[in-house]
Amino acid sequence: MGHLDGKTAVITGGGTGIGLAIAKRLADDGANCVLMGRNLQRLEDQAKGIARARAVQCDVTDAENVLAAFADARGDGAITVLVNNAGIASSAPFHRMSEEEFLRIQDVNVTGVFRCTRAVTDDMRAADYGRVINISSIAGLSGGPYISHYCASKHAVIGMTRALAAEWAKTNTTVNAICPGYVRTEMAEGAIRTIIEKTGATREQAEAELSKNNPQGRLLEVEEVAEIAGWLCHPNSLGINGQAVALNGGHSM
Ligand code: NDP
Repeated sequence: MGHLDGKTAVITGGGTGIGLAIAKRLADDGANCVLMGRNLQRLEDQAKGIARARAVQCDVTDAENVLAAFADARGDGAITVLVNNAGIASSAPFHRMSEEEFLRIQDVNVTGVFRCTRAVTDDMRAADYGRVINISSIAGLSGGPYISHYCASKHAVIGMTRALAAEWAKTNTTVNAICPGYVRTEMAEGAIRTIIEKTGATREQAEAELSKNNPQGRLLEVEEVAEIAGWLCHPNSLGINGQAVALNGGHSM
């Protein structure tokens, strides 16, 4: 077992991609993981493969649902590890970006992080301990075409991370963000499909196009993000607070 023995960790978007890899990593360190997302069947199927994990349905855009889901998760003990990973993306040139689409992305990627973090505040304050990890993006550190709404959301997450890190600094709680470049998940698959459809590129060419800003010239793997999350939960990482940890092969150096 490990240093997260007996601790309850909630991972939003825990049924797929990066969130699922993080849940496995935290379970390896002893955490009781609660996987949250909208697709309960998929969450339950994935939870079966992770020691002590269980699934709770939660739509992070629904404030009442968030409170109920976190109350359910609290049945496993105070929630002292939170990974705000649920996120959505789309692309559109700015002149065609509707207000509705802009707000749809903020509702999940920014207000969702607020709702979920708000829901664990009392747990962490009472325990005088906590780890909050927000999955931002390279798009939180730099700009890119056709994703003004997504960039705005991921920059906002870093702002919230820093503010909360300062506010909770005296409580043995750290709040950090991870900023990956393109990671091989369903989200990156969507971008690959768009490139293929729009340009007629082969799959290999589309992957190369997505990786072109990464000096290592490759997509990242979910386990690489999970490793950083595991490290941020380690007792020896207490001094790392309010950081936006870049994980993109040197894109943002
Ligand atoms: P996935 O599409 O696999 O994961 C997104 C997850 O978010 C799903 O599990 C989904 O579950 C959940 N989700 C979406 N909307 C909601 C909602 N309203 N309420 C609750 N859960 C929701 O992609 P990734 O694993 O790649 O993405 C995870 C995070 O990593 C995102 O925040 C993304 O922005 C970020 N990221 C991804 C990168 C990449 O290249 N893949 C690069 C940088 C950052 P369900 O459908 O069950 O609700």
